[in-house]
Order: sequence, then structure tokens, then C-alpha cells
Amino acid sequence: MAKIFGIDLGTTFSCIAYVDEYGKPVVIPNRENSPVTPSVVFFETADNVSVGEIAKQALQSDPDLVCTTIKRQMGNQDYTFYANDKEYKPETVSALILGKLAKDAAEKLGEPVENVVITCPAYFGLDEREATRKAGEIAGLNVLSIINEPTAAAISYGLDVTTPQTVMVYDLGGGTFDVTIIKVSNGVIEVVATGGDHHLGGKDWDQAIRDYFVDQYCAENGTTRDDVTANFELMADLEVKCEQAKVQLSERESTKLKAEGFRVELSREQFESLTRNLLENTIQKTNETMAEAQRKGVDKYDKILLVGGSTRMPQVMKILQETYPQIPIEFCDPDAAVAKGAAIFGVNMAAYPEAREAAGEAAPVVDAATQQAAEEITKTWGIGSGQQGPMVIRNVISKSIALELVDDDGQDKLFNQIFKNTAIPHTHTLRAGTIVDNQTQVHLAIFENDYAAGAVPGDIVPRDDAKLLTDGDMGPLPSGLPKGTLIEIDLKIDDQGLLAIDARHPESGVTKHLEVLLQNVMSEEQLNEAKEQVKGISIL
Ligand code: ADP
Ligand code: MG
Repeated sequence: MAKIFGIDLGTTFSCIAYVDEYGKPVVIPNRENSPVTPSVVFFETADNVSVGEIAKQALQSDPDLVCTTIKRQMGNQDYTFYANDKEYKPETVSALILGKLAKDAAEKLGEPVENVVITCPAYFGLDEREATRKAGEIAGLNVLSIINEPTAAAISYGLDVTTPQTVMVYDLGGGTFDVTIIKVSNGVIEVVATGGDHHLGGKDWDQAIRDYFVDQYCAENGTTRDDVTANFELMADLEVKCEQAKVQLSERESTKLKAEGFRVELSREQFESLTRNLLENTIQKTNETMAEAQRKGVDKYDKILLVGGSTRMPQVMKILQETYPQIPIEFCDPDAAVAKGAAIFGVNMAAYPEAREAAGEAAPVVDAATQQAAEEITKTWGIGSGQQGPMVIRNVISKSIALELVDDDGQDKLFNQIFKNTAIPHTHTLRAGTIVDNQTQVHLAIFENDYAAGAVPGDIVPRDDAKLLTDGDMGPLPSGLPKGTLIEIDLKIDDQGLLAIDARHPESGVTKHLEVLLQNVMSEEQLNEAKEQVKGISIL
């Protein structure tokens, strides 16, 4: 029997949890005894890396050998991190972070970590999700599922999936702000809308303190800002100290900041006014997302769930209470909620394989003993908040899908067919016509983009803003067909977000099947190379 683990692979911090024999989710602290591990990798030598706090400290001495915020590069095949004359792809760097979490957890529990559910942001597209799965594979893990962070958080908050309700997940992390609206009914968890700002997070609050320090320093010493910011040592030192000061201000009314012999005192009140605009930004994004949910019929919220380490700042709770006085706000272990929820979901998945198949999802691949253990825990104790029945997660796609078609003016244009935030699985059928007499080939080209329904006239997407997912030709069609001959095209997205395109000429039975080529993820060969590479690296 093996345990099932949940991993929150975060932009700035990661966390691993499992469900104990009484059905309670538990975070496993790392070797340094911290429940969260900085998502930072220090490539000390070609075969020795350290991950976490030690790596973060190495940022001061060896910044070139330290890789941070790799999550932003997931799905970007053009990105490579270079260290010690070696190349590392985003999947590989992430695999090293997963490796550290798995290794430390295995050490603590005295058993190997194999089966995992890994989380990713709700806005991740197909490439990024697939890259996340690959990172798990490279780390030698059995990835049961990739689920959305806000969904995992909602599960860990004890979301009762038998009671219909709508919750908003407000997740303010280290480098990102995500707001997600989730609806629950009959065991189905559905993401209704998602929004936020991918470049807004705790780091900006740190920066505000740093700016304040630098201003005071300049005023006192008669130096210019440029002089101070060019002092890399001081800036690196400040980066660490400002984050510490911020964390202190979550508990204390004031704190002192000291660097290069200069002291600055900062009260919580001052800190809150320095960062007011950042906080208001999150509210604006929240309102925008709520407006989108409203267009889909959501106008009442049962709860706001706070997720992400930065929601520990008292200012967050305060502004949410002021802005949405009618909605109850829940706050509990915000930096572990995602990992815990992923673990709960993993156990639930294993306990109810038939429910997954019934929902059209792939059943998890775990051995019989593991499945039995999951079943026992679930049926005896319930997991999380006593959850016993199966949970089914319904996702939405995070990008719109467009098809290239010839417009009335004879120009090729990209017409959006399926819009972002559409619940999946989903099938869309389009009836199109051939454009000239005696046409024997039909070109199919499918694009991904960020335009919501109605965002551009006619839902015609500017080509520069779209990314080609796949293309191909259907044919040959019988000769002599008139212009306007009916061609039917099915766009089918499965529960994992994989897109299949089926075009047919019903009259002759000629068909063409395409599947989305995940061009931005590793090939099998690259995957194997990365596995070998990671095997040869020892992780501290
Ligand atoms: P991620 O962005 O990887 O999801 P987290 O949700 O763990 O990361 O959030 C990390 C951020 O939370 C960091 O900016 C960190 O400084 C901040 N943070 C953690 N604890 C506190 C605290 N007590 N008060 C204020 N900020 C905190
Ligand atoms: Mg997070």
C-alpha cells in the first residue's frame, strides 16, 4: 500500500501533504522543518543542487546559479536556464523542486513518495498543464491528476459537495494574484470564472517596503536613488529583510529595518498606506471576475476562501470585509490549503474509480492495495470534512479556441468557436461550406487565444494575438463539388482539456481527424533525457 500525496507547486513556495489514516489532511514539513519550501533551485555544481531555503540564501552569493519563479516559464519551450555549462528546461527545474519535496517527505514518513496529485493555476492552458505533468514524471512520480489550485483549496476548506453553493477563492501568493469563482452541486465542482493578475503578489509588497527604505536612506545620506539601487549587495540584503519585515507586520504593530548601518522604523499603518494601491488592485480584479460570473448567472456568494501566504496580512481580510460585507470570509492555513486539498482529492479519486469513469474521466492508476486503503479511509472516516461520496471536478477551458475560416470578404480570418471559461467536456459542431467550385482540399487550422465572447466584433480574433495549436488538410474530396458544399466540423474538448477536431464531408464520408499538438511541451525524447539528467543530480 502506498500513500497518495498532494503537491502545491507554487511560484514562490511549494508544499506537500497527505491524508492520514483518520482521513485528516496533514502537511509534511521539509528537512528544514518548514511546512513550505521556497520554489528556488541552486545549481551548485552539475550534479549537486539544493532546493528551498538554502537555495534562496545562495541568491546573495551566486545569483547566476539560482533559478527562481520557474513556474512562469512552464509551457514555454523557448526558455532554458543555464548553469555550470548545462541546460535546464522548465520541466526539469520544476522536477527538481518536486524531487526535494518528495525526498524530504519520504524521509519524514519512512516510505517512498510515488502517487501524487499536483496543482496548477486555473488559468493554465493545455501546454502548461502538460508541462506540469511532465515535471512530475521527470521527478519519477506517478501523477494521478493535475487539478486547479482554487479547486484544491476549496476542497481543503471542507467544501461540502452535496450542498449547492458558490464560493470565491481569493489567492494572493508571492508573485501572483488569482481569483476564482467555483460552483458546487451534486458532487460536481465547477470553475465558473477565473481572473487576477499574474504579476501581482507578496513580492510587490516587499518592494514597497524596499522603496520606502531607499527613499529614507537617500534623504538621510544625500545620495540618489540610482546610486542606492546600483548597490546590488544592499539590494539583495534588503530583499530578504523587507520580506521579513512584512511578515512581522502581520503580527506586530511596527518593525525596524536595518541595513548598512541605517535604521528605519515602519508601522503597520504606514505599511498599509504604502501598499494601498496594490491591495485595491486585487479588489478591482475581483470585481471584474465577479462581473464575468454574473454574466453566467452567478450573483450570490456563500463564502470567500482566503488562500496564499500573503492573505496573512491583516489588510487583506479588512478590505474584503469592507468591500463585501454580506459574504462570510474563511481563513485557515492559507499556505497549505492547496496541497491539502490535492491530497484529499487524490484519495477520493482512488477510492471511487467507477465514479471517475462514469464522469468520462480517466481512472487513476494506483495499485489494488493503495486503492483499498483509500477506500477504507474514505468510507470509515470520510476525508477532509467527512467527505464520503465521490467528487467530480468540472473544469473550464482557460483559453478561447478559434478556427480559420474565409469571411464574406474573401479574407482568411480567425473566428472564435469555443470561448474561455466554457465548462468541459464540451463539443461544438460547426457547419461550414467549401469556398470555390471543385474544391478538393479543406484546410483546417485551430488557434488558441485570450478573447472572451463578444470581446471583439464578430468574435474575429487578431491573428497576432492567437497561437496556432494544430492544422491539417482534409481531402481529397470527390471532384465536381459546387462552392458551398457542406463540411461539418466537431471541436471536442475532453475533461483533461485535450482538443480533438473531426471534420467530415457527410455526402462522401471523407473525414479528417486532428488532435491538438502540444507543441510547447517536451517530446518523448526530451522527456527521457530530462529523466536521465535529474537521476544524475543529487538534491539537497
Ligand atoms: P505562491 O505564490 O508560491 O503560491 P504562497 O501562497 O506560499 O506562494 O505565498 C507566498 C507569499 O506569502 C510570500 O510573498 C510571503 O512573503 C508571503 N507570506 C507568507 N507568510 C506571510 C505572513 N505571515 N505575512 C505576510 N506575508 C506572508
Ligand atoms: Mg499558491
